[in-house]
Amino acid sequence: PMAFATKQLTKVYGAGDTAVHALRGVTIDIPAGEIVVLLGPSGSGKSTLLNILGGLDRASSGSVFFQQQNLSELSDAELTRYRRDQVGFVFQFYNLMPSLTARENIELVTEIAGNPMAADAALTLVGLQHRGDHFPSQLSGGEQQRVAIARAIAKRPTVLFCDEPTGALDSNTGRAVLKVLQDINKEFGATVIIVTHAANTAKMADRVIYFADGDIRNISVNTQPLSAG
Ligand code: ADP
Ligand code: ADP
Repeated sequence: PMAFATKQLTKVYGAGDTAVHALRGVTIDIPAGEIVVLLGPSGSGKSTLLNILGGLDRASSGSVFFQQQNLSELSDAELTRYRRDQVGFVFQFYNLMPSLTARENIELVTEIAGNPMAADAALTLVGLQHRGDHFPSQLSGGEQQRVAIARAIAKRPTVLFCDEPTGALDSNTGRAVLKVLQDINKEFGATVIIVTHAANTAKMADRVIYFADGDIRNISVNTQPLSAG
C-alpha cells in the first residue's frame, strides 16, 4: 500500500512578479513502510513537499492522498487532527522547550495523543533512558536530537518526517541519529521521510527522490540499503 500519492502538486509563494514556484507539478507515490530520502540542492522544494505531506502547509493546486484521504480537501480542524494522530516531525534544530526536562518535552506531546507510549519507553528506544531528568542545555546536540526523535515517535505515528535531522551534527553523531531512525522504521514499520542535501544519507534509504527546481528529476530504489550504523 501507499503512504502517499500526489498528483500534479504545485506550491506558489507570493504572487505577481515576486511569486516563487516552489513545486511545479509533483506526481509521486510513496510506499508505506519505506525510508525515503528527498535529496537535492537548497531551494529545490524538498521542505515544501515535506510540509505539505505532513499537513503543516497546503498545496496551491493538485491532490495529495494519505491513505484514502485527500489532504487538500480536509478542513483546518481535520488537518490538525491528521498531524496530531498520524505524523511525527523532527527538525534540524530539535525545537525542544528549554525549560522542560527531556521527559517533560515528550509528555507535552503524549498528553494529547490517542495511543501514546510512556515517555520513558520512548527515551529507551533512542538509548537515553538515563537522561529523562536532564534539561536540553545539559544534553549534547546528538542527544537533543534523539530526545526530539523520542518525542516524535512516542505518539506512534504512521509517518515520521525529518527535515535535515543531521544538519547541525558532526558526521559520527549524525550517523548515530540516522541509525535510530532506521531502527524505528524496522521496529514499528513507520514510513520515514527524510529531507537532506547530504548525499551520504541516501545510502540508508529504500528510495531516493532527487529534487531540482521544484520537481522530481530522478527516483532510485535501493534493493540493499546500507545500515547507518
Ligand atoms: P532548508 O529547507 O534549505 O533547510 P528553509 O526551508 O528554512 O531551509 O529555507 C529554504 C529557503 O526558503 C531559504 O532560501 C529561505 O530564505 C526561504 N524561506 C523560508 N521561509 C521563508 C519565508 N517565510 N519567507 C521567505 N523565504 C523563506
Ligand atoms: P529546500 O527544502 O529544497 O531547500 P524549500 O522547499 O525550502 O527548498 O524552498 C523552495 C523555494 O520556495 C525556495 O525558492 C524558497 O526560497 C521558497 N520558499 C520556501 N518557503 C517560503 C515561504 N514561506 N515564503 C516564500 N518563499 C518560500
